[in-house]
Amino acid sequence: MKIIVNGKEAGTKEKGCALCGATWGDFYEEVDGEKLFFCCDYCALEFVNMINEVKRRTGWSKIDELTINGNYYTGRTCTAKHREKEFKFYVKFNEEAGIETFKEIS
Ligand SMILES: [Zn+2]
Repeated sequence: MKIIVNGKEAGTKEKGCALCGATWGDFYEEVDGEKLFFCCDYCALEFVNMINEVKRRTGWSKIDELTINGNYYTGRTCTAKHREKEFKFYVKFNEEAGIETFKEIS
């Protein structure tokens, strides 16, 4: 999965956390068979919850590309791509890393 966080590629230790882009920390989580880097277990949990919600709503088996803009406080505006298809959404997490708000954007 190609991941762009606030304009920069992310998802590895060198490039930064797959959700927030931070380069500190040392946490890995396997998503769709791919080992992704996260700054902490919270970011990893939020990311997985978000991916699962996208899959549930779209019926996609995996996501090829994900663009994330925003942060924890403002919420995040994202675009997920699978093959030729695009799914735009807004997501905000709660303090337990669960989804507080999830809106599809047309
Ligand atoms: Zn993070």
